[in-house]
Amino acid sequence: MAQFFATPIEYLKGVGPQKGVLLNKELSIFTFGDLIQHYPFRYEDRTKFYSISEIHDEMQYVQIKGFIKKKELIGAGFKKRLVAQMRDETGDIELVWFQGINWINEKIKPGIEYIAFGKPNRFGNKFNIAHPELEPAAEKKNGKHGFLQPIYSVTEKLRAKHVDSRMLSKLINELLSLSADKIRETLPGPIIASETLLSKKEALNNIHIPTTHDLLARAQHRLKFEELFYIQLRLLKLKLIRQNKFRGQVFQNTSLLNEFYKNHLPFLLTDAQKRVIKEIYADLKSGKQMNRLLQGDVGSGKTIVSFICMLIVLSSGAQCALMAPTEILAQQHFKNLKIYADQMQISIALLTGSTKKAQRITIHEQLRKGNLHILIGTHALLEEEVQFHNLGLSIIDEQHRFGVAQRSKLWQKNKDVYPHILVMTATPIPRTLAMTLYGDLEISVIDQLPVGRKPIKTIHQYDAHRLQVNRFLKDQISLGRQVYCVYPLIDESEKLDLKHLMDGYESISRSFPDIPISIVHGKMKADAKSYEMKRFVTGETKIMVATTVIEVGVDVPNASVMVIENAERFGLSQLHQLRGRVGRGAEQSYCILMTGYKTGTDSKVRIDTMVKTNNGFEIAETDLKLRGPGDLLGTQQSGALDLLIADLGTDGKLLQRAREKAIEILAEDPELTRAENQVIRNQIENMRKTVVNWSRIS
Ligand code: ADP
Ligand code: MG
Repeated sequence: MAQFFATPIEYLKGVGPQKGVLLNKELSIFTFGDLIQHYPFRYEDRTKFYSISEIHDEMQYVQIKGFIKKKELIGAGFKKRLVAQMRDETGDIELVWFQGINWINEKIKPGIEYIAFGKPNRFGNKFNIAHPELEPAAEKKNGKHGFLQPIYSVTEKLRAKHVDSRMLSKLINELLSLSADKIRETLPGPIIASETLLSKKEALNNIHIPTTHDLLARAQHRLKFEELFYIQLRLLKLKLIRQNKFRGQVFQNTSLLNEFYKNHLPFLLTDAQKRVIKEIYADLKSGKQMNRLLQGDVGSGKTIVSFICMLIVLSSGAQCALMAPTEILAQQHFKNLKIYADQMQISIALLTGSTKKAQRITIHEQLRKGNLHILIGTHALLEEEVQFHNLGLSIIDEQHRFGVAQRSKLWQKNKDVYPHILVMTATPIPRTLAMTLYGDLEISVIDQLPVGRKPIKTIHQYDAHRLQVNRFLKDQISLGRQVYCVYPLIDESEKLDLKHLMDGYESISRSFPDIPISIVHGKMKADAKSYEMKRFVTGETKIMVATTVIEVGVDVPNASVMVIENAERFGLSQLHQLRGRVGRGAEQSYCILMTGYKTGTDSKVRIDTMVKTNNGFEIAETDLKLRGPGDLLGTQQSGALDLLIADLGTDGKLLQRAREKAIEILAEDPELTRAENQVIRNQIENMRKTVVNWSRIS
């Protein structure tokens, strides 16, 4: 039966070789199975009739019933058109045809009631419908349709070859009638029963040919559930495989941690920090390799948490590595952690692309001997020569700048037992995304900021009010604060952006003639960059003009104002990241979003959201709704998010439910050997043949 759905699409009646190739190319539809899974992206409601007076601008389409009062041919040549006046009890509307005029003209009979369907267009203060579908109301009553009509996505190329949504609908109907006894169930009976799901067959029929609103909703529910269930099952299975395969070193001893707590802890930890440390400690002593994602908004205090976790590992004599995505950030981590490490007589070193050769060699040596306890650095840590005596814990800051491949390279730095892995990200990821992308990781969240932080005040200002803004900056600087001015530089190779930045720098220099200013951008040499950075960190310069290179992790508590130029050009998550650079000290901090008067609707939503909330998770949710999961995370990871029907922006609850079910099943039957789970095995087998992601599951 599986063979039936593997049949090449060209063999479906009405397709043939030519259209077959088009469907392959344009929609990646190769087989019967692909076509049946090409779900409609919306439906047109043919059950509802509107009266003509109810028609308004926002309608995608409308269905009305009325009599044709008069009809006439207007114009000549290519402007020739047929205009018919339709009337119901509430008003009139014009129906217009530009093609097939004569044929339609003959068909339309006065005195009969018609049903018209199409997209209304406003024409002055009246509406018309161009090329409506038109049929006598009497015929419609006997017709077999008249419910929700499915609308399928097609491409321009397909449309040009007359393969439109309607044509697809016809092909799919044909396929469904051929499949009547071929569709087999893909979820276990007990799940279908407990979740009261439609059967696969009912679901497929109703997703394409809905008979009622209720059945359509249930069909969508069933297919979404199935999709999410199998994604979660795959991730959980991967996790299970890894847990069984990879043992972890046991780090039970906490002597260094206790000493640090007693004598050196610089502030009280927040409850969230304590909870996360407990979660990580439980992993470190479990005997299984930890793979944990630590999410925490900017400023939530991930650094100290990572250090405390290192202390647990160091207490047993193993080593730790911390990898950051940029040189500046690695330096900053090194600087911060060295203060703690020195107090505890722990040796710590920094290794980046610009570490001098002699020093590099010493570091390599000390690492191999085990005399160097903590190594901090950039991806230079991944190089072959970097060999540890016994690496116990790898921490990766700012996850999604590194690919999964790099993550796994760090694993291999310990040949005997894989090190425990902690991935830290300051980009709050909506739960649905986290569960889908990192569903094979454990997740910890620091959802609390240290006490005493004043929420950052965010203000939107138009470019025209720059003088006011400058006055405000002057006041803040005279109070001893420092200021960031950030310019968009989406792509470091963009010459125009660089010019804007330099223009901005000059104009700021003119406006603040006696104030020392730093500038940092991606085109600068690393040492020039760090020199400028340093001058700002030490407070020598008061204004930092920069591109988004400062986005990640830089910590200058005295900097309390962030001005973002062309704020409409930044993504929401990026704006939030940037804002997180301020608000780290005791003073009230500000974020000023500068834009022109004209901005698009999406940018307006972004800016309003920023002004309204400081909550990173709320912002991430909005971002997910605005951009969709693919764009949110960059193309790198979006492949995992190509869903057929479920929507991570709106199906969070269902995802949670599907994950719970997958956990339940794997807990009872990890090898899926029970009879009722045979359908799962079959389905996995099927997916392994067709879906790349599945190939790793045994
Ligand atoms: P992020 O999570 O963005 O990496 P950091 O670890 O850089 O945040 O912490 C931000 C600032 O807050 C640092 O200056 C840090 O010393 C301070 N901090 C962290 N935890 C606490 C706490 N519990 N109480 C007070 N200050 C804290
Ligand atoms: Mg950080």
